[in-house]
Amino acid sequence: MAYTLNKKIRDLKPYDPIQGDYQIRLDANESFYNLPEELHTAVQDAVAHMQFNRYPDPVAREVCQQFAAYYGVDPELVTACNGSDESISVIMTSFLMRGDTVITLSDDFSMYRFYAFLAEANVIEVQKREDLTIDVDKLIETANAANAAMIIFSNPCNPTSLGLKREDVLRLIRSVNALVVLDEAYMDFWDQSLLDRVDTFDNLMILRTCSKAFGMAGIRLGFTVANKTLTDAMKAVKSPYNSNTLTQKIGAAVYGHPELMRQRTKEIVHSREALSVGMKALLEQYPTGMTLYESCTNFVYLKTALAKEIYDYLLDNSIAIRYFPSGYLRITAGSREENQAVLDMMKDFFAARQKAVTE
Ligand SMILES: *Cc1c(COP(=O)(O)O)cnc(C)c1O
Repeated sequence: MAYTLNKKIRDLKPYDPIQGDYQIRLDANESFYNLPEELHTAVQDAVAHMQFNRYPDPVAREVCQQFAAYYGVDPELVTACNGSDESISVIMTSFLMRGDTVITLSDDFSMYRFYAFLAEANVIEVQKREDLTIDVDKLIETANAANAAMIIFSNPCNPTSLGLKREDVLRLIRSVNALVVLDEAYMDFWDQSLLDRVDTFDNLMILRTCSKAFGMAGIRLGFTVANKTLTDAMKAVKSPYNSNTLTQKIGAAVYGHPELMRQRTKEIVHSREALSVGMKALLEQYPTGMTLYESCTNFVYLKTALAKEIYDYLLDNSIAIRYFPSGYLRITAGSREENQAVLDMMKDFFAARQKAVTE
């Protein structure tokens, strides 16, 4: 007897984020804020009163209501999930049939391709323009020519940090038959959400997460928002107890402090602005042909021929950022000290390099 893995999964490797004891972690777009003091009691109470022996609420009623109140959407149109990563997985495996065509963009969040592959969908990757903006007409044309079943992309985009305006996304949704899965993981940092429009379209699903602006990546909580028909389907296909009781309770407590969360989001945006300004100054001082993109997120994105060198230099100095072999760097906005450290270290890098060149 001999069991062999099927060819779909045979060569897959586990997701491998940067691991190790780096002093400064600006590689995963997490919030630099941990759980606020104000919520410590609520979390302790949730643990103390938890009925560990009972299954969680399958529809996560309370946290969905809090989420809905925070964003001003109808709670009936919200599905909770185990991080928006799970939403992507569930949507891909259920809303697509094997061989259906799904359109992704390049560059964009890598998980779309991965889950589409597992769903045995046919993926068409539409290239962005040279400046990394999205050509909506090309997207519409490609989707309709291929009779695509789904279009999925992040807005604002990870990794480019760029945003696509509401009117452009609306035009896309109206011009295709495909289901448009709009991943708004970073929309807390920008103001072009389409959450208020989900019930006006039969082909729009929006994904949100607690992992970025809310600083809750560790509890795995995300939401899918869509019209009633799509939401009913989503609730029918997800695994019944996908969101655990503690996560639901902590999530409800977090959304129960809307002012605090709005304040923190604002501070993260300030941090991003400070990092962008510092970076811009650095690029002016040391012109090496580097491009800094206009960020709508909690990170900055850079194009540079020196990407690998800078990444290695920072890592050697215990600062982790994200490096893309295509020649880009992604740096999450951190605390004031963390931003300063990364800017200082890059300055050291440029100064040493300039010295080496002039000597
Ligand atoms: C971080 C991120 C997610 C994942 O969010 P989780 O809720 O932590 O699974 C989804 N989409 C994009 C574009 C992201 O950057």
